[in-house]
Amino acid sequence: MTNLNKPVVIIGAGPVGICLALYLAQKDIRSIMIERLDPQTFLDQEPRAGSIHPATLEMLDDLGLYERMERRGLIAPTVQYWDRETDSIFAEFDHAVLKNDTRFPYVLQCERTKIIDEAMQVLRETKMCDVRMSTEFVSFTQNEKGIEALITDNAGNEERISGSYIVSAEGGRSIIRKSLGIEFEGYTYPERTLTVAVCYDFDKAHGYAYRNYLSDPEQWSNLFKWTQPERWRVHFPTDIQDPPEKVLSDEYIQTQLQRFLPRDQPYEVVHRTTYTVHQRIASTFRSGRAILAGDSAHVNSPIGGMGMNSGVHDAINLGQKLCDILQGRTSDEVLDRYSRQRRHVAVNHTKAQTERNKKLLAEKDPAVRKKNHDQVKRTAEDSKLCREFMLRTSLINSVKEAAEIL
Ligand SMILES: Cc1cc2nc3c(=O)[nH]c(=O)nc-3n(C[C@H](O)[C@H](O)[C@H](O)COP(=O)(O)OP(=O)(O)OC[C@H]3O[C@@H](n4cnc5c(N)ncnc54)[C@H](O)[C@@H]3O)c2cc1C
Repeated sequence: MTNLNKPVVIIGAGPVGICLALYLAQKDIRSIMIERLDPQTFLDQEPRAGSIHPATLEMLDDLGLYERMERRGLIAPTVQYWDRETDSIFAEFDHAVLKNDTRFPYVLQCERTKIIDEAMQVLRETKMCDVRMSTEFVSFTQNEKGIEALITDNAGNEERISGSYIVSAEGGRSIIRKSLGIEFEGYTYPERTLTVAVCYDFDKAHGYAYRNYLSDPEQWSNLFKWTQPERWRVHFPTDIQDPPEKVLSDEYIQTQLQRFLPRDQPYEVVHRTTYTVHQRIASTFRSGRAILAGDSAHVNSPIGGMGMNSGVHDAINLGQKLCDILQGRTSDEVLDRYSRQRRHVAVNHTKAQTERNKKLLAEKDPAVRKKNHDQVKRTAEDSKLCREFMLRTSLINSVKEAAEIL
């Protein structure tokens, strides 16, 4: 029998862990959140997610976060698809086509660190979550009554904490997933992606929208605007054989940027980093009292901006079920439903869509490229096809489909 009075233990204060803790807090359920990062440097993290899709904006609004984030973000109503060979737009989608489907017919460009900053402030105000920063989760055990987790602070002091359930929101390297022997099925792309933050007005210089996908048989890329004043991020694939020192060098980066958009001066680069991209999904999202959410359950290519979005959807779905269990309305068998629902989305939406995006941008065969571009162009120009496409990319369909899974 679950001890209903024990808190939910959440490992990881990324967007998924914090949104889950906030959802539970707003339903009067206590949690303990363990985060290894130091509070002083917590927000100095490598730039990652930032495009928030309509379905997620609705969830964040329900948590009371939307207005705070809109103040710190940029509204991006459109997304453009460019052919770099001809330097022209082959399709442009406007989220306005979703105006009857969502309260937020646009994407909000708001970086992950701003989301966790705002969400953490609101969470702390609830006083329902014991947030332990500079604390490392080490291991856990579970039995029919609850879980016990071993944690250590940065002075090496060990502590055992107990809870009703443990949620792994630890990111892709989840200790919980590994210790349970849950397979992380999938593959890793044989390339490393270079991300460069640039201070330059790409819109004024070349007519780019705030969100751009660029197809190129030699070097696909993505270009996004993040903040005012002009801060844009460009992503390029690089050869996995090239050492990081080379791809992070000024010379290499300036060459890529000049090829991307030639100009007579060097670009002002304000940040640079590389990352490896995986497509992996856990074989189950639940084992007893341990539940996986966000990157610990699924990692995918960032092309399409779906990882954090679908992770936040996991958090809300899981939060609803934990409330029902801990407030005595249902048994914890609903956690198997969580696993079925959210795994279905990870396989059939997040993975499928991001793989399609990658293929569209990286295709080398000229005939296949042309066929693909023509198809996307036709989709953008046909209002019915366009709406169907946008319902998928904005993750509205994934939420509806998950709700139908028993
Ligand atoms: C370049 C890039 C761009 C991206 N762009 C987008 C985008 O536009 N839209 C989108 O939806 N997604 C995007 N993503 C993906 C997105 O960043 C992730 O899906 C998202 O951050 C996952 O959130 P999470 O909370 O599950 O995990 P994380 O954000 O990884 O957070 C996990 C937290 O757990 C902590 N932790 C880990 N292990 C321990 C431990 N043992 N003890 C204590 N604490 C621990 C970590 O310190 C961290 O704070 C992008 C990713 C990359 C790399």
